[in-house]
Amino acid sequence: MSAILDILPMSSWIDTQGKPLIIAGPCSAETEEQVRETVSQIKTEGYAHVIRAGVWKPRTRPGSFEGMGEAALPWLVAAREETGLPIAIEVATPQHVELALKYGIDILWIGARTTVNPFNVQDLADALQGADVPVLIKNPVNPDLALWIGAFERINRAGIKKLGAIHRGFSNAQENKFRNSPMWNIAVELKTMFPELPLIGDPSHMAGKRAYLYELAQRALDLNYDGLIIESHRDPDKAWSDASQQLTPKALGEMLHELSIRQAEYGADFQSNLETLRSKIDNLDRELLEILGTRMSLVEQLGEYKRDNNVAVLQMNRWRELRKSRGDLGKQMNLYADFVEELFELIHMTSIRKQTEVMNSAPVA
Ligand code: PEP
Ligand code: MN
Repeated sequence: MSAILDILPMSSWIDTQGKPLIIAGPCSAETEEQVRETVSQIKTEGYAHVIRAGVWKPRTRPGSFEGMGEAALPWLVAAREETGLPIAIEVATPQHVELALKYGIDILWIGARTTVNPFNVQDLADALQGADVPVLIKNPVNPDLALWIGAFERINRAGIKKLGAIHRGFSNAQENKFRNSPMWNIAVELKTMFPELPLIGDPSHMAGKRAYLYELAQRALDLNYDGLIIESHRDPDKAWSDASQQLTPKALGEMLHELSIRQAEYGADFQSNLETLRSKIDNLDRELLEILGTRMSLVEQLGEYKRDNNVAVLQMNRWRELRKSRGDLGKQMNLYADFVEELFELIHMTSIRKQTEVMNSAPVA
């Protein structure tokens, strides 16, 4: 896939003095008070270059808090006046763009549920024509790199040269540790294609839970991301949206302090082919293990089901069918037949071991 973007470096729209860009702020602007207090605490902590806040919230289900809309814009303008920090908000419709520009919002971002739809992205591009505002584009909810690139092309063709990518992970149908699967290799691929495009990690929406923020943020920095966008709320548990993934401004400061920036080791990571390829392989291996972990937890459930229904662990028909279908799949993917066979023998043996263990344990009362 070849594509060209005409973009300006990140330093043309924000000065981070060589450090990773930190965007912090609440998932949503809820009240004037909450915005003022949260932003002022973030300012006091001193780590943020930009404040984020959602004004229009794209909610999966109706009836959840859908954002305060235009009413919140003056609160954000006031927060910028008090702190001197530029403000970023999400835009999803041409009306949002129009209002954001009218209030002089400094940075816009396009959310994951908007990036998936080329019609919506084109509408935003048309509304942005002639504006000189940085636009950050979140990855689409589904793992489709071409769709993400298409969004950059549309916005870029409208004359927006201050662009950045936000990697927030991809929705996962299977059971998973994270709210959104990172699939790091997709973002690394984007950065490899467009080394000058700033890449910003969004551990908040990947994690879904505070406990995982640190490891995801560290991983983004290890991959030489240009910055992080992290949700922070004065009273996270009472947040009107995304309560379980937000941190207080102080806790965010402590977390950022703990992160190591491995500039020296990674250096020109993306310039070096060897390093790029190795980091892609590292990512894939990690995902392989994550998938094996998910598979094993399904096997465990299967074991419990067999135990409770008095079914034998090994069913020859199933194993024969599994071996054949995996062999056929492997062939389509140009993998050595004996490799696929041995791999699935090992996986199958380990599943049997797990299920036998479950069989011999007492059901939970
Ligand atoms: C957000 O940033 O609050 C948000 C809604 O994110 P996403 O578009 O990544 O779901
Ligand atoms: Mn959010």
